[in-house]
Amino acid sequence: MSKFVDEFMAELTAKNSGEPEFHQAVMEVAEALEPVLDKNPQYRTAKILERIAEPERVFSFRIPWVDDKGEIQINRGYRIQMNSAIGPYKGGMRFHPSVNLGVLKFLAFEQVLKNSLTTLPMGGGKGGSNFDPKGKSDAEVMRFCQSLMTELCKYIGQFTDVPAGDIGVGGREIGFMFGQYKRIRGEFVGVLTGKGLNWGGSLIRPEATGYGAVYFAAEMLATRNETLEGKTCLVSGTGNVSQYAIEKILDLGGKPVTCSDSGGYIYDEAGIDREKLAFILNLKNVKRGRISEYADKFKSAVYTPVDKAGDFNPLWDHKADCAFPCATQNEINATDAANLVKNGVYVVSEGANMPTVPKGVNLFVEKKLLYGPGKAANAGGVATSGLEMSQNSLRLSWTREEVDARLRGIMKAIHKQCVNASAAYGMEGNYVAGANIAGFLKVADTMLDQGVV
Ligand code: NAP
Repeated sequence: MSKFVDEFMAELTAKNSGEPEFHQAVMEVAEALEPVLDKNPQYRTAKILERIAEPERVFSFRIPWVDDKGEIQINRGYRIQMNSAIGPYKGGMRFHPSVNLGVLKFLAFEQVLKNSLTTLPMGGGKGGSNFDPKGKSDAEVMRFCQSLMTELCKYIGQFTDVPAGDIGVGGREIGFMFGQYKRIRGEFVGVLTGKGLNWGGSLIRPEATGYGAVYFAAEMLATRNETLEGKTCLVSGTGNVSQYAIEKILDLGGKPVTCSDSGGYIYDEAGIDREKLAFILNLKNVKRGRISEYADKFKSAVYTPVDKAGDFNPLWDHKADCAFPCATQNEINATDAANLVKNGVYVVSEGANMPTVPKGVNLFVEKKLLYGPGKAANAGGVATSGLEMSQNSLRLSWTREEVDARLRGIMKAIHKQCVNASAAYGMEGNYVAGANIAGFLKVADTMLDQGVV
């Protein structure tokens, strides 16, 4: 680590103690930006990096609700308004027991640079709660969402802060939150994205993050005159991002062979085809069941439960060409990364946010994999949220083909920005450097324009 990064990180860690995910996310960016700061002292003088790493505003609030047994439950809610230099705060809400301030700050920080890469005018934010929707009835989820929005509605708005979904927050939760916002504020506005199609949602928004991660992989492969046709793909997760990554892999001729949930993973050597994907969609979105049921239904698949004592994830230890981590942060540890490389994987496109630990990232870069970090590869979701906001403002809806074409164009543009920025700093093919530099420059220059605010 250089002296600059060392000193910067020492101060950040002291100021934000007990937030390891936030430290990890900032450190990757600080390391990537060092040559930029060396070449452009105006950013150092204006303390742009220091300012970007400090949220503009953080809300933490109580969420009391009553469960089906009549018992009172109390969760904690957050909204981090990280940076509004280039537009209203934008970023998802996460409902998961592991949610805490540090996790949301890492996500909000990543979101600032990601949103900048989308080419759309969106600042960065993130929020959520330690509420676990798993095992809750629809009525309990509704009461929780209503209580959360009763407080959150004071801080958000179509021109200030526009939340969306993330882990544990899909169409159902967005619907309940939107309903409560409308009821309290008495206005029908595009204050959330990921809405239903009947009430202001955009076609392709549910698909966008997964599709985008696969489009990004296709762009990276195109630099070597290759396509996804015939490529064996490892995918993790079975949520929103994973489901549509699998669908797009199939569209582009690839063969997905794995997917997972927090209980374990399935390996289907014959490939997850469209019929099997339809089973997964019904299992996860309607029945809200476990992926182990896939192996009961399809005999070509083997289910492996999570081994809590294990120090690697066997999902990443199969022969393949491409990997699409689409579950959660730090799901690829150093051993997993080494296994991927050993098994011939040479394309990694991250649907999840920060799914690879720093040692894994360094290995992928060093081995010159086609490695698309989350802030570039999964930006299709928020980009399409931006398109949903545009349609809401215009009061019209674009067709599926139109939104998909815009998404594909945006993923191409993000890829190009990464390629150009990494080349400008002599790091050709390094998408980590490219994404961090390109995302940073737009926000940094805007912050210079807007003065010390
Ligand atoms: P989701 O629909 O809730 O699905 C999450 C999936 O990951 C589920 O299969 C879940 O399994 C698994 N998972 C979650 N936490 C886990 C853990 N600690 N260990 C093992 N498995 C875990 O969420 P999503 O929207 O697909 O989000 C997945 C990732 O993509 C996240 O990193 C998110 O930040 C990122 N992302 C999402 C979007 C978006 O538009 N939704 C956009 C950009 C990035 P269980 O069901 O068993 O928990």
